[in-house]
Amino acid sequence: MHRTHALNYVSVTEYYSRCYWGATLMRQEIALKKLVEYVARKASALAQRYELEDLVAPSIASLFEKTIDKMVITLVRRNGGMRCNLCDKGPFTKRGMYLHLIRVHAKDIEFMVQEELRKLLEVIRK
Ligand SMILES: [Zn+2]
Repeated sequence: MHRTHALNYVSVTEYYSRCYWGATLMRQEIALKKLVEYVARKASALAQRYELEDLVAPSIASLFEKTIDKMVITLVRRNGGMRCNLCDKGPFTKRGMYLHLIRVHAKDIEFMVQEELRKLLEVIRK
């Protein structure tokens, strides 16, 4: 009886820890998608739907904003209209630029965001 109880206890704890990590991963997943959108909107000069402070820790928000400004320069070239720096398509309108980045380059932007966040967190932890 006691033994069964102990086993149940372990499995319940494990269950909750799995739920917890699952939820954490899902939150990170959602935050990453919103960050990709944030970068794409900034690159296309569209108004933001989220505050950066709501997407990353407030302590790194202002540093990350500067990083995003650099990303924007690597993503979009402005001469007359906007052109994609990654595949040279364009010229686009603001909306067209945003849709192009989200549809064609979401994974590229996601990778950049993750890399830059990792670098930034390394610098802060030192
Ligand atoms: Zn492109």
